[in-house]
Amino acid sequence: MAKDLSEFHIQYLKGVGPRRAKLLSRLGIKTLKDALYYLPYRYEDRSNLKKISGLTYGRVETVSGKVVSVEVINLPRRKMKIFELTVNDGSGLLKGKWFNQPFMKKNFTIGNEVVLCGVVKRNPYWGIGFEMDNPEYEIVSDDGDSLIHTNRIVPVYRVTSGLSVRQIRSIMFNLIDTCSKDIYDPVPHEILKRHDLPGLPESLSGVHFPDTSVDITLLNRGTSDFHRRLSFDELFMLELGLAIMKRGKAREKGIVFNSEGRILKRLIEMLPFRLTKSQEKVFSDILSDMRSPHPMNRLIQGDVGCGKTIVALMAMTVASECGYQSALMVPTEILAEQHYINIHRIIEALGLKICLLTGSTKERPLNEIASGEIDIVVGTHALIQEGVSFKNLGLVIIDEQHRFGVMQRALLRRKAMNPDVLVMTATPIPRTLALTLYGDLDYSVIDELPPERRPVTTLLFSPKQKDYIYTFIREEVKKGRQVYVVYPVIEESEKTDLRSAIRGKNAFEKDFPEFTIGLLHGRMKAQEREEIMASFKQGEIDILVSTTVIEVGIDVPNATLMLIIHAERFGMAQLHQLRGRVGRSPQQSFCMMIAYEPCGEEAKKRLDVMAKSNDGFMIAEEDLNIRGPGEFFGTRQSGLPDLRIAHIVRDAWLLNGARKEAFNIIERYPDLKGFPLLRKSLEGFWKGKIELFKTG
Ligand code: ADP
Ligand code: MG
Repeated sequence: MAKDLSEFHIQYLKGVGPRRAKLLSRLGIKTLKDALYYLPYRYEDRSNLKKISGLTYGRVETVSGKVVSVEVINLPRRKMKIFELTVNDGSGLLKGKWFNQPFMKKNFTIGNEVVLCGVVKRNPYWGIGFEMDNPEYEIVSDDGDSLIHTNRIVPVYRVTSGLSVRQIRSIMFNLIDTCSKDIYDPVPHEILKRHDLPGLPESLSGVHFPDTSVDITLLNRGTSDFHRRLSFDELFMLELGLAIMKRGKAREKGIVFNSEGRILKRLIEMLPFRLTKSQEKVFSDILSDMRSPHPMNRLIQGDVGCGKTIVALMAMTVASECGYQSALMVPTEILAEQHYINIHRIIEALGLKICLLTGSTKERPLNEIASGEIDIVVGTHALIQEGVSFKNLGLVIIDEQHRFGVMQRALLRRKAMNPDVLVMTATPIPRTLALTLYGDLDYSVIDELPPERRPVTTLLFSPKQKDYIYTFIREEVKKGRQVYVVYPVIEESEKTDLRSAIRGKNAFEKDFPEFTIGLLHGRMKAQEREEIMASFKQGEIDILVSTTVIEVGIDVPNATLMLIIHAERFGMAQLHQLRGRVGRSPQQSFCMMIAYEPCGEEAKKRLDVMAKSNDGFMIAEEDLNIRGPGEFFGTRQSGLPDLRIAHIVRDAWLLNGARKEAFNIIERYPDLKGFPLLRKSLEGFWKGKIELFKTG
């Protein structure tokens, strides 16, 4: 078999050596394999160098010429230094300007042959001349390898100080030249053929040094055939791991919950509403998981307000009837307190015992949990801490999953012998993505809101319209409704000039002396918070001023108006969650957002989307587009291996294919016997994250 490039240190590649190896390691490159996968972040078409006289204003273009002057211009009144480089290519002159980087001067000598690439601007003094601000540059030396650096589509790599892009490019050229024959392709040929993907050696060399026939736009987007192939590999490895995990779990032995549904029936009779079709369907998925001899691992997705809590309660009654304990775990103390307040009465009416367990609950009924006297525990991650043990935990429900990672789920699972696990999330992510991010879970969706809900009317205001907003608030409260006011921060601080909840509360008290104003934020004591929420729920507080602590889970149907201060400061997913606190009754609800200047184009776009749409799925997709998947999902937390080349959104279509192939192959060859290269690659990809194959 060919040699394993991940075992060869980069130092021994021709042209590297110990000093450069050290610099390369700063870029994450230690082995030959690391280097092969260190992809250019953009490409420049130097096969198409432009004459300076033929440049087009406003376009990104590349020229090459001789340095004819270098000078640093001092503008003391504007406290600015500008380094100016003038280049002549025989057809005309071009100026490159770098602001406040006078040290750039020492990089250039008159007579140097340079390549400059940037947006072409009109020169303000000559009027008809050309210039570029902060162009990309490269000094072309006469060392005989100009074929690597010009006259072609040139890869541009991220650099580190001490290593120029030109040096890295030469190293890469050498690398491809030396290693091509040692790159083996772990992906079965038929799979590549089905997806019309090129081979691995060809793709690696193409992604670094594409020939001029390749479309540079595709290269720069990361969607050339070569990129697609490398993205496919990552997605395929990801999905293979998920397929193996899922298969392993499906074969574990779990609890068989054989309930007759006595408690469940009473619960349903007590509800003041009828379940929606969607709730019923999802619950029947859950019930059949619970009855099966394997542990349930199911994700329930449903937009805010669709009624996930009741479905969770129903599942808990099934566990209770079979003599098992349940735990409901949520991301914040406030949410835990809310769930507790909302459900304890109904649970107790059913003859079951419930308790709250968070970092700040004083009474910690640990003995009662350990003895099995308590049936249902509601809490935060305090639940998974040392010292909490259950008698027989049979069902674990995790609400608002986006704050919990795979690892935390695993920890909680360890508190019990293979309990059934139900994960609930309001993050409305597209199905394929959901399947991947929670790829080891089964998936159900509640895609229907309770009847008689009216979509929340969302309106965007400027601070000048305060009078109108206040009149509106006054009228709502007079009708007997309640109001949330959300601020981005608890207190004013020196670092920002944002308006704060504490000040806001005082201001509202002055402006609305006839109403009761409450304050809620994360730094208050748990007991205070509970009291405030309880009195808001009972209608004693008219206007609740708070921070985003109310973002998830809080349920007070009589609150019909939400005012968001500094809406420009919030992300879309967050705004959608916040807005989900109103619109929980048949009354028309409103969400009023005030945006302050400076607001920024991107924020304006976000707020426009919010004002136009109530559709969580659409908002999530927009959000994904604006922010990119890493931030959106907090991949760091998810516990999945990093994707370095593939982009879950851009490559959604590839992801789909990769997932099908992966699940298909694992079903037929669970241990990947007969695919030794693939198996090895897979282990490398998941290294340290999970143990894929039980040894033996
Ligand atoms: P979420 O899915 O956002 O967690 P909740 O479970 O908090 O939603 O439910 C939101 C509100 O809708 C609660 O007041 C709940 O009692 C109510 N609700 C749940 N299901 C129904 C239903 N089928 N019909 C009417 N109201 C319902
Ligand atoms: Mg909820």
